[in-house]
Amino acid sequence: MSIAIDDIGTSLKVFFAENQYSRIAVLVDENTIRHCYPTIQEYLPEHHVIEIQSGEVNKNLRTCEHIWSELTDRHFDRKSLLVNLGGGVIGDMGGFCAVTYKRGIDFINIPTTLLAAVDANIGGKLGIDFKGFKNHLGFFQDPNEVFIDPIFLQTLPDRELRSGFAEVIKHGLIADKDYFEQVMADGLSQKNWNAVVAHSVHIKHEVVSQDPKEGGLRKILNFGHTVGHAIESFYLETDHRLLHGEAIAIGMICEAYLSCKLLGMSEDDLQIITQSIKEIYPELTIHKADFTSIIKLMYQDKKNVNSFLNHSLLYEIGRAGYDIAVDEKDVMDSLFYYAKL
Ligand code: NAD
Repeated sequence: MSIAIDDIGTSLKVFFAENQYSRIAVLVDENTIRHCYPTIQEYLPEHHVIEIQSGEVNKNLRTCEHIWSELTDRHFDRKSLLVNLGGGVIGDMGGFCAVTYKRGIDFINIPTTLLAAVDANIGGKLGIDFKGFKNHLGFFQDPNEVFIDPIFLQTLPDRELRSGFAEVIKHGLIADKDYFEQVMADGLSQKNWNAVVAHSVHIKHEVVSQDPKEGGLRKILNFGHTVGHAIESFYLETDHRLLHGEAIAIGMICEAYLSCKLLGMSEDDLQIITQSIKEIYPELTIHKADFTSIIKLMYQDKKNVNSFLNHSLLYEIGRAGYDIAVDEKDVMDSLFYYAKL
């Protein structure tokens, strides 16, 4: 697999000059067909468009059945190609459908959200949700190619951009202090998204290529995610649904607190992380009465064993550790820390 960050027209022209397919399908949702498909249409050989409904609620077997049916009804054979044009939902689910269809056809990803460009499309995780569990069915397999062009960010709603930006912040916090300071200086008004996307992709790629199946080092990418995922799941059932990155931003504040308490991260770093995240993300009122339910959700996380919660935390801004056992009381304190801000 290669990852190209370039003008999308150029990338596609080169790819289709070098690769021939019997049939090509482009997977889109109602937003990417409107905002992104017109940008690539002219660079694609003859193809069929498969449109699905956007959103995490549709990342399931029913939608897969629709995709597999479309491919089957149009006689797609093993020499076919699926082009996934969209955010993380399209990339994860399109990849899942491609690797299962006739025991696997080629697929390429064109991420159109910031989250998909810097996170979901790097590292080979494919999957769908099942029986209320996120990414419960899936595979590790890289797309044949990932073609990234930040031009697609121009139509992305601000809230989605902010959500993806949480992963950019995380990349700086776990691996590169200078990068963290640089991206925080301009926040969501980056002057050069190409450079930001390229550097985040580089950081994630470096980490996953050393540990593709998440046996060790890859876990540092989970900084902010143990608390963040639980908060995301808890509010899924309420009127205050959060986007993934909005929950991860809160998770990073809580886990920065834990880093300070348990890994000796400095109080200065804690203040820097807390203030800079607070400036970008809306405040969420988390009621004390809900803390226990949120912590309970953390035990469902695949990363946790026995009565301790396994966290990835920071020694300092730019350097992370993983498999750090944290007891419930400290996690509770971290939620208090956020709630009192
Ligand atoms: P998403 O795919 O739901 O896209 C967000 C919204 O933006 C959708 O409504 C979509 O239609 C719209 N959209 C996409 N591109 C657009 C554009 N250019 N202009 C206007 N609208 C556009 O959400 P996401 O945040 O990209 O991805 C979330 C998913 O990614 C989750 O399912 C999560 O599990 C998955 N994920 C996977 C990995 C991985 O390693 N595989 C990592 C992180 C997240």
